[in-house]
Amino acid sequence: VSSAELTSAHLARIEAVESKLNAFIEVSGEQALAEAHAIDARRAAGEELAPLAGVPIAVKDIVVTKGIQTTAASKILEGWIPPYDATIVERIKAAGLPILGKTNLDEFAMGSSTEHSAYGNTANPWDLERIPGGSGGGSAAAVGAYEAPLAIGTDTGGSIRQPASVTGTVGVKPTYGGVSRYGLIAMASSLDQAGPVTRTVLDSALLHELIGGYDDRDSTSINEPLPALVEAARQGAAGDLSGLRVGVVTELSGDGYQSGVSASFNEALDLLRGAGAQIEEISCPNFPLALSAYYLIMPSEASSNLAKFDGMRFGLRVEPEDGPVTAERVMAATRGAGFGDEVKRRVILGTYALSAGYYDAYYGSAQKVRTLIQRDFLAAFEKVDVLVSPTAPTTAFKLGEKLDDPLAMYLNDVATIPANLAGVPGISLPSGLSDDGLPVGFQILAPVKADDRLYRVGAALE
Ligand code: GLN
Repeated sequence: VSSAELTSAHLARIEAVESKLNAFIEVSGEQALAEAHAIDARRAAGEELAPLAGVPIAVKDIVVTKGIQTTAASKILEGWIPPYDATIVERIKAAGLPILGKTNLDEFAMGSSTEHSAYGNTANPWDLERIPGGSGGGSAAAVGAYEAPLAIGTDTGGSIRQPASVTGTVGVKPTYGGVSRYGLIAMASSLDQAGPVTRTVLDSALLHELIGGYDDRDSTSINEPLPALVEAARQGAAGDLSGLRVGVVTELSGDGYQSGVSASFNEALDLLRGAGAQIEEISCPNFPLALSAYYLIMPSEASSNLAKFDGMRFGLRVEPEDGPVTAERVMAATRGAGFGDEVKRRVILGTYALSAGYYDAYYGSAQKVRTLIQRDFLAAFEKVDVLVSPTAPTTAFKLGEKLDDPLAMYLNDVATIPANLAGVPGISLPSGLSDDGLPVGFQILAPVKADDRLYRVGAALE
């Protein structure tokens, strides 16, 4: 098929299902079709093109796109049209992938259900009454519902992997520093990573190779070539994992994990055994502290990163209803009107945790926990090649079910957060359905810079 046919077919699918799903904040159909025609012409002229050239893609609306509105699902950025592209968007365009549009998310990527979006919630394609995960529910729902064959997500505490888990798609959080953060609207800079959302492990490897690798505009970018990811996926697809040592994380199972999730997880372990892998249990004793540390570090960094939304530099500006129009009062009025409740909650939490007198007790302790989690990973990876767990403790829950209970919402992230705190890469891929008929995600974690292992093991399971 031509890129124009492929792109039109996906735009038609978007047209048909968007009223039910709401996976996109903005569809850039005309631009996508123009790009598709341009790629077809270059191919017809005999030009050698990139492997994914002509395949359309959806991009999470927290990644900056030149000429296409970028909102981070916040009212504070409504109507903001960035004057530049994120590095990963530059790479996507250079490789000739038409951009279908920008996908929905929890405001500034804060949430696990995409219900905290200023542009309405996204539905789960498996059951429209349920959440598609978050924060990247739009990208996962778009891929799961065949609106897009590929999508970009970002993962600070699980926002690629948990939505993948509850929508039956594949999502990868690369090693921290493996994919450029230039042009991502920063949430928590020491945790944020962009990565692929796809329907197969091989597609994720192809997209990861396209967007990944060194970028001198990101000071934490790793200045080394990526491991051979596509090759690893192709190797894994042969299904032979003999000699591979797999550690099942003791702390990421048991209480709180739905029985259908555990059953599906155990079936996947049997498949790994069948492929020749050796399975053992590994304790990571500090993992139970990860969630509390994350929910201090993440709001602290976010409160600082969001300080730039002051009513003057970008997007929305609200002047106080009466009294003098001072910078401080414009800032307060704009932030009061422009930020949603969850964002305000985290800014307040973060500024409190960073304030003089509390800094050591909260932020300082959380950073110490972070070191302990890193040590747990290092110790575990001396014994095994990869660690595995369910991606999320439950299948997709009902819309509204956890919206008024932030702590219940945060608990969704227990299994995904340790990877962000330590910078290690992780993948979620479908391991079948739970007894409630909903998809379950299987998570594989590998050492820093060994992202190829995710693809080898993931492809063997597919
Ligand atoms: N659920 C996590 C949070 O709310 C996910 C964040 C993310 O990965 N962007 O912080």
